[in-house]
Amino acid sequence: MGDAAAIVLFDIDGTLLRGVGPCHKEALIEGIRQVTGITTSFDGVATAGTLDRDLIASLLATGGYSDDRIRAALPEIAEACEAVYLRNCASDLRPFVCPGVRRFLEQLRTHDAALGLVTGNLNAIGWKKMELAGLRNYFSVGAFSQDGHTRTELAGIAAERARAHCQWARQCPVTLIGDHANDILAAKANGFRSVAVATGVSAKEELQRFLPDIVARTLAEFNPAEIIAPYERCQERRTGIKCTSAHHVDMGIE
Ligand SMILES: [Mg+2]
Repeated sequence: MGDAAAIVLFDIDGTLLRGVGPCHKEALIEGIRQVTGITTSFDGVATAGTLDRDLIASLLATGGYSDDRIRAALPEIAEACEAVYLRNCASDLRPFVCPGVRRFLEQLRTHDAALGLVTGNLNAIGWKKMELAGLRNYFSVGAFSQDGHTRTELAGIAAERARAHCQWARQCPVTLIGDHANDILAAKANGFRSVAVATGVSAKEELQRFLPDIVARTLAEFNPAEIIAPYERCQERRTGIKCTSAHHVDMGIE
């Protein structure tokens, strides 16, 4: 047991991983094609900071689908996209882990922080990326594209799941770490501390405009002690309730 605690939520793409290749986008295109027969394309579509469900909806709208048809088709398409990704994904994403991430997660774990994911990835795709990057066991909970309609909503859900999972963390402050303005806005809308890292498509100066509490070029230059709360602040922690091992928890997995 360490001497401090926190709930720390991470975005995936551009924050934990970068440069992982086209497999994810190709899975969305192929999932849509399998269910609807429509051939779509990401040409000219900005994907950073978005939710997969919004990307799928936007591609379907371009293909002539009405809002009602999109809503009806989304669950089946999401499942098809996940299946395609699991079938075609790279076998090893460890080379694509962002600088400083592994050391950073290790230090947070030493301090008994409860770690969660907040990502626009579809559920199975997000967890699979973590597994292939060798990061799966750091995370006990997550909120994914299927869990809500906005990143702000997902961030709130992930924090609730972290509190439910780690009872001692109920009173702990929450930090959301991401690489996009949408991560900063989601953190602020929930009253969480916002940490921005310039390992995605946005430069540090651009992220700074959205007024995150902390901004760093990479997690390698960021000291985890800055987001670890003093032990005394986490009242529940004193009761001695211990967090369940991340290995045995499937919350957020559908
Ligand atoms: Mg991102």
